[in-house]
Amino acid sequence: MPSPLEILNTTFGYKSFRGRQQEIIDHVVAGGDCLVLMPTGGGKSLCYQIPALLRPGLGVVVSPLIALMKDQVDALRQAGVRAAALNSSLSPAEAAEVERDIRAGALDLLYVAPERLVTPRCLDLLSKTRLALFAIDEAHCVSQWGHDFRPEYLQLSILHERFPDVPRVALTATADGPTRRDIIERLGLTGAPVFAAGFDRPNIRYRVVPKREPRTQLWAFLQEEHRTDAGIVYCQTRRKVDEVAAWLASRGRVALPYHAGLDPQTRQMHQERFLDEEGVVVVATIAFGMGIDKPNVRFVAHLDVPKSLEAYYQETGRAGRDGLPADAWMTYGMADVVAALNLIERGDAPERQRRIERQKLNALLGYCETARCRRQVLLAYFGERDHSPCGNCDTCLEPVATWDGTVAAQKAISAVYRTGQRFGVGHVVDVLLGRTTERIVELGHDRLPTFGVGAELSKSEWQSVIRQLVAAGHLEPDPDGYGGLRVGESARAVLRGEMRVELRRDPAEMRKGRARRAASPSLVSETEVPLWERLRELRLELAREQGVPPYVIFHDATLLDMLRLKPRDLRSMAQIPGVGRSKLERYGAQFLGVLAGTSPGTAEPA
Ligand code: ADP
Ligand code: ZN
Repeated sequence: MPSPLEILNTTFGYKSFRGRQQEIIDHVVAGGDCLVLMPTGGGKSLCYQIPALLRPGLGVVVSPLIALMKDQVDALRQAGVRAAALNSSLSPAEAAEVERDIRAGALDLLYVAPERLVTPRCLDLLSKTRLALFAIDEAHCVSQWGHDFRPEYLQLSILHERFPDVPRVALTATADGPTRRDIIERLGLTGAPVFAAGFDRPNIRYRVVPKREPRTQLWAFLQEEHRTDAGIVYCQTRRKVDEVAAWLASRGRVALPYHAGLDPQTRQMHQERFLDEEGVVVVATIAFGMGIDKPNVRFVAHLDVPKSLEAYYQETGRAGRDGLPADAWMTYGMADVVAALNLIERGDAPERQRRIERQKLNALLGYCETARCRRQVLLAYFGERDHSPCGNCDTCLEPVATWDGTVAAQKAISAVYRTGQRFGVGHVVDVLLGRTTERIVELGHDRLPTFGVGAELSKSEWQSVIRQLVAAGHLEPDPDGYGGLRVGESARAVLRGEMRVELRRDPAEMRKGRARRAASPSLVSETEVPLWERLRELRLELAREQGVPPYVIFHDATLLDMLRLKPRDLRSMAQIPGVGRSKLERYGAQFLGVLAGTSPGTAEPA
């Protein structure tokens, strides 16, 4: 029997295991159950794929995402693994063929939807088959606490009752305490080891910029850093999704809208184009993303604030699954926060739930306004408190200057108080700046003692001060839903001078016009672009011929290594991570041809 490492090398083309993969694989190969907690892109799949290849019999993978199964099966077949899927998207004839293969022992891995698995027919078939293991992917779906509870998952407890000797691996990227306990209990994994990897996604660069002209800011970000990359732009409303997609398209980007208001065919088509083409931008509401497994999403941009840090982490987590540098970029302004709060208040959730949602929104605000490393704030929120500053977020790359904002805070708080705790940021700032707008005169606010006391700061500086006071809880958005601000609990101590207020200076404010250090370097340098494009073209061509997404042929990371290392023969090509035996045989020569500049239709060698 080959070793796990040999399978990793020859079948998958990778040199060494990552993180705890080796431990997990050894444990499962030896027949043990376990729970695997690993962030997206951490490499969960190999934890069951390799044991399934090493243990005799069929590895059964339960996955809720039918749309993903085809991709996974295609990718495995490319690597020479005998894999198939059994779900409702198959015709009866196709399903019968898969069942025949199972009976004949002609498969290593079977992906199956949970509702299918628990049918008597399927259980009966499996009980007559030699089984290597069960992998329960997206295991958090078993928990009612989680965000995508699937009732069918509850029935999976049947597996250890019917097949007590077959090892079970449950895997997920989301598992806070309660969810984790649910998984263990409901899947009968009590006593099984939990292999947890940290939640950090070091290749994602986090950045938050104050919202000024969001579209222009987005455009600059796309043009300067992601001219030909695929990515997702999240917006809050369907209307905005349509508008932003049309706007980007009018400026020459392939940008497709995606939201629940579009008919299913259009949605499906847009999703497929995102997967199958290069460089497509999807502009979407949160309806888009579940089950998007595209590894080379190079950026996730938020034009509006997400609902919570959990949502943010999940949405941004769709970037950079391949481990290459990726961006999580967000613009945010006070109006967003007020709008998000309105959504909570207008909803019909009970007060207890609303309180939780408000707290979550506050945590998000705290993240946006922090002067600390963003990754530290994020990970601390998920319970990992011992990370040092990451060096790969905006606050690390451009340290934020702070200033003693106590006096400014006092002025802002009293302006809110004196105007009756019902006006929004715009009006309060007008009062502070002493602007005699019609509204101010009409309301007599030009006669208030706070009128015009804030001339030392600009309008956008005051906006920043107020956002930070809200983040710190000294001011609160009024829950009546009209966008007013009121004075928070702790404001009194600030007014009395008992509490010092440290504020951050917005970096963009400080160094307008200077080169932005936080901008990502692009993956390939200017001179490498032509060869890189030719490699991508060949990959796209091969993908089209077989009707699979390009990344199923080779990941970006693999193409990048080809570009860097420029292998000249099959032997050195085999050394490139991601080039396993099967892909070497199928594609090695053609890619060598492009690298040598001798493949038909390509230009001179680079
Ligand atoms: P997850 O399911 O945890 O989100 P995947 O299993 O899809 O992650 O793996 C993410 C990416 O990392 C894939 O492109 C996979 O091929 C790659 N990968 C996984 N393990 C290794 C490894 N040991 N060496 C190199 N690449 C790996
Ligand atoms: Zn950082």
